[in-house]
Amino acid sequence: PSALREIEVEVPTVRWSDIGGLDYVKQQLREAVEWPLKYPESFERIGIDPPKGILLYGPPGTGKTLLAKAVATESEANFVSIKGPEIFSKWVGESERAIREIFRKARQAAPSVIFIDEIDALAPMRGLVSTDSGVTERVVSQLLTEMDGLERLEGVVVIAATNRPDIIDPALLRPGRFDRLIYVPPPDEKARLEIFKVHTKRMPLAEDVDLAELAKRTEGYTGADIEVLVREAGLIALREDISTEKVHMRHFEEALRKIHPSLTPDIIK
Ligand code: ATP
Repeated sequence: PSALREIEVEVPTVRWSDIGGLDYVKQQLREAVEWPLKYPESFERIGIDPPKGILLYGPPGTGKTLLAKAVATESEANFVSIKGPEIFSKWVGESERAIREIFRKARQAAPSVIFIDEIDALAPMRGLVSTDSGVTERVVSQLLTEMDGLERLEGVVVIAATNRPDIIDPALLRPGRFDRLIYVPPPDEKARLEIFKVHTKRMPLAEDVDLAELAKRTEGYTGADIEVLVREAGLIALREDISTEKVHMRHFEEALRKIHPSLTPDIIK
């Protein structure tokens, strides 16, 4: 049996409200993905073409995957996803077929969003890698063929994500392919506060927990770091007293000493 069966269509459940900050990015995605999927006839009527492909780029852990899922949910679209490196590792000898299969499934399930995470794995500077005997090139060219074959309004949008936009094969960025680039920035203080609110939604917080103060003190922490920090604070509280009913500021203080920011000042600017 082929491993290709593992390509599954998902009905995503992430909502815009599950993502802290990134208001500008959410608005961009609404216009570029949600509107065309929900109101294709409006685009026809006005005579403009929506993008076929969108590239989300920015540091790891800043919510790119969440955004792709949320825009699918909010567009009432299905979600088909694959990670760049998996295309080679999971489907050895069938990498191009995997690409075809993703597009086939997405068309079948339209309206749908195809999400290709870590797309940089698919474009390690053509010619530079001598060990892969042209597999990468064939996969890229299969992807280009599929994207060129998509009709603008057939209800399939491709979103890709990367932390390394600088190494993406330029052929992928030409008009009609990933021609909309959206930067997903690390969270500023205001966004971090929103992210803390998202991740403490189900956590009983003691009166002394000051999320605004935590947001101030977490420069360099990504959304993913904040999620880990909150979980750690909860665990510290439980370790102290398994029957505790609240998580206190001191638990967050301790978690802050343990969980470090993954972004360095040069990335944050
Ligand atoms: P990578 O580049 O490593 O794939 P990514 O940018 O795709 O990272 P996600 O996978 O979307 O990041 O985020 C990882 C986890 O971090 C999410 O599941 C979520 O819990 C948390 N997270 C990241 N950003 C946010 C955010 N803006 N709001 C809420 N949670 C966030």
